[in-house]
Amino acid sequence: MKTGTKFIHAGAEPDPSTGAIMTPIYQTSTYVQEAPAQNKGYEYARSQNPTRTALEKAYAEIENGKFGLAFSSGVAATDAVIKLLSPGDEVICGNDMYGGTYRLFTKVFQKFGIKFHYVDMQDVKNIAVAINENTKLVWAETPTNPLMNICDIEAIASLTKAKNILLCVDNTFASPYLQNPLDLGADIVMHSATKYLGGHSDVIQGALMMNDQKLRDELYFIQKSCGAVPGPMDCFLVLRGIKTLHLRMQRHSENGRKIAEWLRKHPKVERVYWCGFEDHPNYAVAKKQMRDFGGMMSFELKNDSVDEAKRVLSSTKLFSLAESLGGVESLINHPATMTHASIPREERIKNGLSDSLIRLSVGVEDADDLIDDLNRAIG
Ligand SMILES: *Cc1c(COP(=O)(O)O)cnc(C)c1O
Repeated sequence: MKTGTKFIHAGAEPDPSTGAIMTPIYQTSTYVQEAPAQNKGYEYARSQNPTRTALEKAYAEIENGKFGLAFSSGVAATDAVIKLLSPGDEVICGNDMYGGTYRLFTKVFQKFGIKFHYVDMQDVKNIAVAINENTKLVWAETPTNPLMNICDIEAIASLTKAKNILLCVDNTFASPYLQNPLDLGADIVMHSATKYLGGHSDVIQGALMMNDQKLRDELYFIQKSCGAVPGPMDCFLVLRGIKTLHLRMQRHSENGRKIAEWLRKHPKVERVYWCGFEDHPNYAVAKKQMRDFGGMMSFELKNDSVDEAKRVLSSTKLFSLAESLGGVESLINHPATMTHASIPREERIKNGLSDSLIRLSVGVEDADDLIDDLNRAIG
């Protein structure tokens, strides 16, 4: 089945009691049983809910996996993966991963005796060097936020497979339309469904997808034991969002290309970070593992100051100043004073995040209007 057809029909069955074409929102906490332990597979809604079941089936299908699990947020999905580990276990992860993931690892899990190694994943050799007999998990994210760095999922998977190490890929930025890590050898895919899967900036949710039954059972046990499950209304919203994922991603990618190329020629712009440029340091890998390049990008101004960035950020009208990404509307933000404000300036600059760096989540509006808006704001 081709991608577009899959996204529209994933998880969708007419409702058995009425034939409703859209999965109903089963707003219930429990299910009446005919006799003790005699039921229709639904006992209590932390463990099972039909709206969630439909979404979890859709999650599996859109990532070409056998199983999907829904969580109350992206970080709750990540939290479940780390709970597969025990004290003494070690994790290798990127040194520029999503800030909330970094916070979860360093501030919550480190004190339970799990050790995290942060490496530059653009070069797979750095991962090979960090592996030891305690390594149980490699956590990869590609493209990364906000510098759009790329790591080679297939190359990492061949390394982890040989050593029986789990590979989990945070596929939030690419979405299943652009990249399918399970097909490239990953064991688990994680999504913040809050972003492209929901697609309309109206829901917080996370997802895990996998092929292995035992892994699915372990993660399901954590899901129901720890209880970070999404409500049925949120599941309904993500189910609806997935139906237009291919249409939205096509436009995000089309607009992304137009805006990245336009920005690059702008006299006041120093540099544009977008993985669709042929001179992007990992373009060959991006081209190999992604179908297109999406609408996420960052750029630096020639006048590299916080004040100049703030002037631009407060002058856009269509691009709304906000954290988050992946919705139909365009967003603009400033890592130095927003998402990465807790990192000391020197360290931030050492990591490539300059004072004037601005991140865009290019939406699906008309590209000409978006360019006019940026043109007025940059001046
Ligand atoms: C937003 C995000 C997360 C966290 O997801 P929430 O839904 O906000 O909990 C994780 N990874 C990436 C890349 C994200 O953008």
